[in-house]
Amino acid sequence: MTSPPEPKSEPRTEHDEFREYCRAWLRDNRPPPAPVRLPQHPIETMTRAQLDYLQAWQRRCYDAGLVGADYPVEYGGRGHKGFQRIANEEMNRARTPFLVNMVGLGMAAPTIYHHAQEELKRELLPPLLSGEQIWCQGFSEPGSGSDLASVQASLTPDPSAPGDYLLNGHKVWTSLAHFAQWMILLVRTSREHKHKGLSYYVVPVEGHRGVTVRPLIKMTGEAGFNEVIFEDTPVKDAWRLGATGEGWSVAMTTLLHERGAGPLVTPAGGVGSEGLAHNVRGLVTLAREQRRNGRPAAEDPQLRARIAALAIRERGMLENAKRARSGALVEHPMRLPLQVKLASTELAQDLAAAALEVEGPAASLYLSDERAPVGGQWALAYMNSFGATIAAGTSEIQRNILGERVLGLPKS
Ligand SMILES: Cc1cc2nc3c(=O)[nH]c(=O)nc-3n(C[C@H](O)[C@H](O)[C@H](O)COP(=O)(O)OP(=O)(O)OC[C@H]3O[C@@H](n4cnc5c(N)ncnc54)[C@H](O)[C@@H]3O)c2cc1C
Repeated sequence: MTSPPEPKSEPRTEHDEFREYCRAWLRDNRPPPAPVRLPQHPIETMTRAQLDYLQAWQRRCYDAGLVGADYPVEYGGRGHKGFQRIANEEMNRARTPFLVNMVGLGMAAPTIYHHAQEELKRELLPPLLSGEQIWCQGFSEPGSGSDLASVQASLTPDPSAPGDYLLNGHKVWTSLAHFAQWMILLVRTSREHKHKGLSYYVVPVEGHRGVTVRPLIKMTGEAGFNEVIFEDTPVKDAWRLGATGEGWSVAMTTLLHERGAGPLVTPAGGVGSEGLAHNVRGLVTLAREQRRNGRPAAEDPQLRARIAALAIRERGMLENAKRARSGALVEHPMRLPLQVKLASTELAQDLAAAALEVEGPAASLYLSDERAPVGGQWALAYMNSFGATIAAGTSEIQRNILGERVLGLPKS
């Protein structure tokens, strides 16, 4: 009797090799523990000591080719295809610190890449990818958030520099502006048309004339976002992305990437505050450690059912992420990408709410209280989760987008 043929081993691809490289590099180059408590998320970076540590880590990842892997070499990348997703997966798996220049990597870089003049791309992208220059996003204003097209900050001709402009206006909720060298800016260049009156620029922040950055304190006690006031701030026309009056369509590139639905994979991976696994596994660990009526909370049947429901949602998200990579498995190209922001932020909020219930009265103990379970990180995560369901488009707005663009429902 002949034995069955040996299963053919698949030839190793360059993607397999890159994954092995990332895994080995992250194992051998894990940074020392941070000298300060790290925030849970890049946009909550508050102190210079946090920034220095995180910036140094992004630089090392960049030098090793884990950041900017899919960007062309002339813009500071490595010129690969499909490598960044692998690097991200491995950074998440290794639970190394996150990449701090999040607004730069996730929003500014793809917009600059798609819309800036060649010279500007070559100048701005390399220090952005390496994390040397921090970026922020000046879209929201006191009177315009969801209705982004009602932006009022405006440019008027600069009498002392023909062809250039002066910027006046007030941006708000500007994450990382307190450390930023550059901002992506949506600004009004005409009052005659709502959308066609908008243009898109990049402008320097730190040390630039007429720019005031004022940190805003969140309910968590952290100050990750700011208000930014511009008073006769000089803006060169060479800093424009796209044509004058086309700012709205350029902003759509930013928003698509910000919501995780853009064509370029954002370099992003790793975790925030050590000690918190903000996922179902972390919740299960907590439930095993905390006691309820004298027994481990994990033995409570109602709690077990709640955790199981969260585990199903988490698994669904992971499977959807895999499915999204195969066009043939999705009937509408934007169905899964457009769900990601909504589904992930609402899941994170429900996870944190369940964790606080597991903790019971101890949930009221906060950071720096040594009696607080997991250092008070779940309480912080719960409060932060509300910002996440608002930033980059609120859950209501995301549902409108899904309803209109994917399900084809009439506009509200
Ligand atoms: C943590 C955090 C970080 C942020 N970082 C930045 C940043 O770096 N740069 C930046 O520019 N902005 C940033 N933002 C601002 C963010 O983009 C806005 O808060 C968001 O777009 C909502 O706008 P708004 O706050 O003006 O609320 P509004 O637009 O006034 O909305 C108020 C409420 O009305 C609801 N609503 C509004 N319109 C509709 C509608 N058509 N249908 C149904 N419901 C509606 C909203 O869902 C919300 O519940 C950040 C926000 C947060 C929370």
